[in-house]
Formats: sequence, C-alpha cells, structure tokens
Amino acid sequence: MMSAGLHHVTAIAGPAARNLDFYSRVLGLRLVKKTVNFDDPSAYHLYFGDETGRPGSIVTFFPWEHAAEGRVGVGETEEILLQIPAASLGYWTHRFIEKGVEHSAIDKRFGQSVLPFKDPDGMRLGLVAGETGDGPGSDAEANASRGEVPADHAIIGLFGVSLLLEEAGPTAEILTDIFGFRKIGEEGMRQRFSAPEAALGGVVDLHAVGGFLKPRPGRGSVHHIAFRASDDAAQAEMAEKLTARFNLEVTEQRDRKYFRSVYFREPGHVLFEIATDEPGFAVDEAPEALGSGLMLPDRYEPIRARIEETLPPL
Ligand code: ZN
Repeated sequence: MMSAGLHHVTAIAGPAARNLDFYSRVLGLRLVKKTVNFDDPSAYHLYFGDETGRPGSIVTFFPWEHAAEGRVGVGETEEILLQIPAASLGYWTHRFIEKGVEHSAIDKRFGQSVLPFKDPDGMRLGLVAGETGDGPGSDAEANASRGEVPADHAIIGLFGVSLLLEEAGPTAEILTDIFGFRKIGEEGMRQRFSAPEAALGGVVDLHAVGGFLKPRPGRGSVHHIAFRASDDAAQAEMAEKLTARFNLEVTEQRDRKYFRSVYFREPGHVLFEIATDEPGFAVDEAPEALGSGLMLPDRYEPIRARIEETLPPL
C-alpha cells in the first residue's frame, strides 16, 4: 500500500495579522494561499508551506480576531512537528530567544532532537532536526531562503503530529490499515508510526494517557489533520475501506479548490481528513505569485467587495 503521509494540518488562530507575522516572518514559511474559510467567508483561511506548497509542507489556519483560547485535551492533536535540517537546531534556538518565542529545552524523542515551542496563540509545536521517520528524507535544495531565514536553516515541511489519546490501539489500526503507516517504536506512553514512502509529514505519534481532560477547541487548537490521497480514486478506495473494515462513514466530498476532501472522526475522536494531491495551489495563481492575492472560490466572487470590507486588513 502506498503510504504518502500527511497532506496538511489545520488549526484555529487568533488575530490574522499576528498569525501571518509569526508563520511567515518568524518561522519563514511561505504564505502560499490567502483565501477565506469556505464555510464562513467573513474569516480568512491562511495556508503556509514551502516554495510550491507541496502536500506535506502545509500548515493552515482559521484566524478569528476574537477566538477564545483553546485547551488541549484527549482526542485531539497535541503538537505539530516541523522538520528542519539536521544542523539547524542551534540557529533556531537563537532565533527563538531573539524573537521572544516561548520554547523549552531540547528534548530527545526516538533518537531525534526536538525543540518544543509555542506560537502566539499558545499552540504547541516542535522543530525536529533531521529526516522524517525512515523515509527518503528531505530535499533541502528545493528550499529557497524565506525572508530572514536563510535557505540552510529553512523549515522543510511537516515532520508529523502527536495525537493525545485515551488509548492508542483503535487509532493505530486506522493508521496502519487505511493510511499504510507502520509502527516503528515505542517510548513510554508514546508510539511512533511512520509512512515509509513519505518525504514530508510521515510521522504520527500516538500519545496515550488514559482518561484526561476533554479538549476545549479555540485559538491554539488543531482543528483537524489531513492525510494524502493521490487522486479521487485513491480517496474513494480509502473511504470504502473505512466503511467496510471499521464501519466508519466519511462525509461527502467537499471541493476545497486546491484539493478535494472527505472527513471522518477516527475512533480516538480526532478529526481526520483525506485530501487529494490534485489540483494544488497553482490552480488560481502562478507559482511565483502564490499567496499574493485574496483568492475566492467562484461562488463568493459576486460578493468579493463585501467580503474584502469585512476581513481585517492584512
Ligand atoms: Zn483540511
């Protein structure tokens, strides 16, 4: 089975301008798409990624100016891990000190160094030095420098996520049977699963903690994580398997313009999406112009003026 790993991770943020500043200037990711929440066009949907917005490099946000603070709990993504070059931990530690980014001491997980930090909304992230899982690794030469961050140290893309769960077993079955992940290790209450062929976003850690606080969604919370499907047929095959083997129904397919998606809640209560690689972010902007305009789905073009008036300036 092809195991392509994660496509993107989507989280809730506070003020859009602060979110944009942190992810583009401080972390040096590229804003690859500025659009609206397709279900609530009075709010932005911001997509950050690498130069071309490859699947597996993407972190997206729904910024709401007055979103209440979330609280992490069981049945939720606990941490987003981003991959950096093996020799870049020192650079990033310095940068976090210089920019006043809340971070903690470097941690070792599964033999790799992790620099945990928080974004301005209190969301937990970590920078992981080196390659994703046992996959073929990054293609760092595709990375140009981004703003203040030189190419040598630029974030490569998603390394993976950590899910906070009551128990690991049922979610592990979905990861292995549907998405082709393999268990590659266990450390304390964490089990690591890897998608062997994924160059980016190939790691999902299941952190099983038993009964614990329920999550309270809000700014700083991850809304969902999306796995890759090469096309509609691959997505449909996964959806059928979910029903046949796990009695889980996915939503009907939704056209997100840059990919097509189905959603389901996995047995550990985390919202999972399956997103197609097609058509990608260059469908409405040239690759060199990604993120430069406010792009809207066709149905909102007739009310563009009203939408632009409502959105906070960016
Ligand atoms: Zn999504």
